[in-house]
Amino acid sequence: METPELSFTLAYWVFSLCFVFTPNEFRSAGLTVQNLFSSWLGSEDMGFVQYHIRRSSVTLLVHSGLPLGYYLGMCLAAPEQHMEHILEVSELWQFYLLVALSVHVGAWTLVVYWSMWRWENHPISRALKRHTHPPHSSWGALAASLNTEFRRVDKFTAGVHGARVIVTDNWVLKVNTYSVSMALQNQCQLSVVHSRQHHMSPDSPSPTQILTLRVKSTNRAVSPFHIRLNSTEYSELRDKLHAPITNLANVVIFQSVSELFLDTFRSQVQDNPVYSLPSGQELEPCIGCMQVPANIKLMQLCQSEGSDSDGDCQRCLCRPMWCVSCMGRWFASRQDQQRPETWLSSRVPCPTCRARFCILDVCVVPEHSSTSTLD
Ligand SMILES: [Zn+2]
Ligand SMILES: [Zn+2]
Ligand SMILES: [Zn+2]
Repeated sequence: METPELSFTLAYWVFSLCFVFTPNEFRSAGLTVQNLFSSWLGSEDMGFVQYHIRRSSVTLLVHSGLPLGYYLGMCLAAPEQHMEHILEVSELWQFYLLVALSVHVGAWTLVVYWSMWRWENHPISRALKRHTHPPHSSWGALAASLNTEFRRVDKFTAGVHGARVIVTDNWVLKVNTYSVSMALQNQCQLSVVHSRQHHMSPDSPSPTQILTLRVKSTNRAVSPFHIRLNSTEYSELRDKLHAPITNLANVVIFQSVSELFLDTFRSQVQDNPVYSLPSGQELEPCIGCMQVPANIKLMQLCQSEGSDSDGDCQRCLCRPMWCVSCMGRWFASRQDQQRPETWLSSRVPCPTCRARFCILDVCVVPEHSSTSTLD
């Protein structure tokens, strides 16, 4: 093979591989199916299901056209071989062209079949159909409710391109290259099955741990699938998920010190007395995250010894303005990061009025506590 053909061959197949598996460099350059066809695909936020039906179909058509593209490219890269005269090229090339054409035509046939009866045959529609039960009697109604849930800001998203994990109020979803795996939260069970550590990551100096979780639905028509995420995203996933997570392989999950502290903070706060809102007062959204109602009231409950260098606890008159997670993060952020063993016993100022408090003074405000007094 001569030099221009060889260099074209190499360049084409490297480009194709990168286009299919999209490393970060390709993604930032916008060389993805999502980006190239963005005007036709529409917005994922407006219609998650419809977007992914279109995206997976286009992806299949584009990827299946790559072998054919190579042949056409060779016609231009090696004009002296006259490869456009199909009947005159070598048998090997004829065979290649036949395979490439069949792959592409096959993909078109499949997509046309998917698109029949308003995309009813598409794998995503079929996956939704397996979940239909009252009150959603058709997959269209289920798709509409999934679209609404996806639009909410409090969904959990993680993972890499080609294997994105999304957890909404009712669904666990994994966006694959050609489809979307899905399971209803109230039907599924997750288990940590594997963990892998990467010591080389340009973003962080410490090793990153990638967890593999298996999502299994009690709905027999739904086949199990695996999701992958960073161990630091694990606690956020657990917050969003109502489904149980088991750790069958006894994988040790490495969380950051702040996340571990947040768990301890939450369980400690659960043991403190609760605070009931005066009747008529409503819980407003937490001003830290704006995603959940504020549910923390600081009350000076401890028998403060005052021997500490940071002084006694003080009375805070602020109304509930923060949720337990935001208050825990605030508490952790005010600590000596080098001495985590002192965190639980220390005092920090209220984020709003600066009155000092300790962990014993953090009271949970139960939701609807104000309405219960009216009953
Ligand atoms: Zn918050
Ligand atoms: Zn305060
Ligand atoms: Zn105190």
